[in-house]
Amino acid sequence: MAKKIRLDIVSPERLVYSADVDMVIARTTTGDIGILPGHAPLVAGLQIWPLRLLNDEGELPIAVSSGFIEVQPEKVTVLAACAELPEEIDINRAKEAKARAEARLKGSTDAKHKIDAARAEAALQRAMLRLTVSRQSSQ
Ligand code: ATP
Repeated sequence: MAKKIRLDIVSPERLVYSADVDMVIARTTTGDIGILPGHAPLVAGLQIWPLRLLNDEGELPIAVSSGFIEVQPEKVTVLAACAELPEEIDINRAKEAKARAEARLKGSTDAKHKIDAARAEAALQRAMLRLTVSRQSSQ
C-alpha cells in the first residue's frame, strides 16, 4: 500500500476534515506547495484559495479561507479562519456575498473608504473561492 500523510483541517468552530491522503496541494503566501508523505517540516500562511487533496477516490478541493499550514513528515495540519467541504457550500449564499462585495467595492473608491474596500475585497475572494470549489467538485 502506498504511503499516506495525515491531513487535519481545523477551524475555530470544528474539525472540518481528517483523513489519510496521498498528497496535499496548497497556495501559501509565498507560492504553491505540493506535500507528499515525508515532506520536510514547515509552517506557512495560506491564501484564500482551494486546498486540494488527492486520495483513493481522486481529487477533492476544500474551500480554505486563509489561515496557516503546518507540515510534518507524517502529518499536515491546517488551521483555517473557516473551511468548507464542497457539499457544505451554500451556492446562493456565496453568490449573494459576491454581489454584496462587488457593490461595496464600486461604492468605495475614495481614500476614506479604504478599510471597507479591503474588507469587501476579502469577502469577494471568499465568495469566489466557495463558488470555485463548488464548481470544481461537480466537474
Ligand atoms: P457571508 O457574508 O455569506 O456570511 P462571509 O464570507 O462573510 O460570507 P465567513 O465570515 O467567511 O462568511 O464565514 C462565517 C461562517 O459561515 C463560517 O462558518 C463559514 O464556514 C460559513 N459560510 C460562509 N459562507 C458560506 C457558504 N456560502 N456556504 C457555507 N458556509 C458558509
